[in-house]
Amino acid sequence: MITKQHPALFRGLLSRPATPVLHLRRSRVSLRLMTEVPTKTGVLRDSYGRAIRDLRVSLTDRCNFRCFYCLPHGEPPIAPKEQMLSYEEIEKACEIFVALGIEKIRLTGREPMMRRDIETIIKKLARLKMSDKLQFVASANEAPVSQTNDKLKHIGHLHDLALTTNGYFLPERAQSLKDAGLDRVTISLDSLKQDVFKQMTGVDVLDKVLAGIHAAKSAGLEPIKINAVIVRGHNDEEVADFAAFAREHDVKMRFIEFMPLDSGHDWAREDVVSGREIRERIEERFPLVRVEIARGSDTSLRYRFADGAPGEIGIIAPVTEPFCGACSRIRLTADGQIRTCLFSTIEHSLRDVLRSGASRSEIAEYIESVVLKKEPRHFINDPGFVTPSRTMSFIGG
Ligand code: SAM
Repeated sequence: MITKQHPALFRGLLSRPATPVLHLRRSRVSLRLMTEVPTKTGVLRDSYGRAIRDLRVSLTDRCNFRCFYCLPHGEPPIAPKEQMLSYEEIEKACEIFVALGIEKIRLTGREPMMRRDIETIIKKLARLKMSDKLQFVASANEAPVSQTNDKLKHIGHLHDLALTTNGYFLPERAQSLKDAGLDRVTISLDSLKQDVFKQMTGVDVLDKVLAGIHAAKSAGLEPIKINAVIVRGHNDEEVADFAAFAREHDVKMRFIEFMPLDSGHDWAREDVVSGREIRERIEERFPLVRVEIARGSDTSLRYRFADGAPGEIGIIAPVTEPFCGACSRIRLTADGQIRTCLFSTIEHSLRDVLRSGASRSEIAEYIESVVLKKEPRHFINDPGFVTPSRTMSFIGG
């Protein structure tokens, strides 16, 4: 039974910029291995042996912010409503994903809270956390999911239902999100200075977002993570201030390197503030201690404050310190396309499959086949890197 790749092969594939020939040859080997070994109950694996446990679901292509690193040029096109997945379709897809081994679902979007009735989908998805939830399962002889009839059985469940938001709607809605069954939120906050916040996000609402963070805390949507994309010449001078914010408010402050996912394709390497520089800037004021945990699928390098102050620092450095080897993610766009990597140039239409009248088993089989196509790593640092045509605002982070 071989569902895992040899560690050396795994490391080689994922961390080293392999030559195309070598890479192709190796991926063919992996793919062959995986097709011979059917997916076992509750574990969705890609062709490199990575377990896929984390699904990001974009709920909308609308946003009330205009962050320059995400949407720099004009009004983004809005897709016709019929192209977007309905809540019923999202629920069905998520149920099948969970049956296949997904443990965490993060709702995102351009701005997911632009869906006024987001509590409705949260309630539906929260049911997948219950122990009596339904799950596809291979039959007693452990046949692959695709060979089962549409049988549902009880096994495993969703562990974590989270939301990424710009925080604007949280002051009024944090409690209703919690009541609907949401576990926690990640809130974007790119500056603590009103003018810089406005310049980076296109809207003058820093106070509202800060109130949103407090509302999320009061509602118990914890642990609260705060995301700041650090861009040279904009908010890089504020890094240590953000760390002070984390200490004062006992939140997990996460610094994200600027990635080439802006829809204006204006990204330049000089604008990236490396994870290392971010850590050094923080340590000038607040010495840090690495939180030694198995990184697992965590995208961030985590630190606590050496003096024991509350709060935590996370540094997400996909450009300078890629972590593709630990990637456990897959994404579903608001119009129903599966993306196997943030930087994928190809999408796979789950929407078409969902709307084709396919059985749940057939949909599960399709998802399994798409996961096998997940890229070994992103190619940001390769000379031939191609920016995906649908960028962060469409994918939803
Ligand atoms: N509207 C929500 C929000 O503001 O958090 C969710 C969508 S947003 C696209 C998700 C995350 O992606 C945010 O934390 C945002 O800062 C981050 N992001 C967007 N564009 C980025 C880029 N070019 N590089 C790095 N992070 C980016």
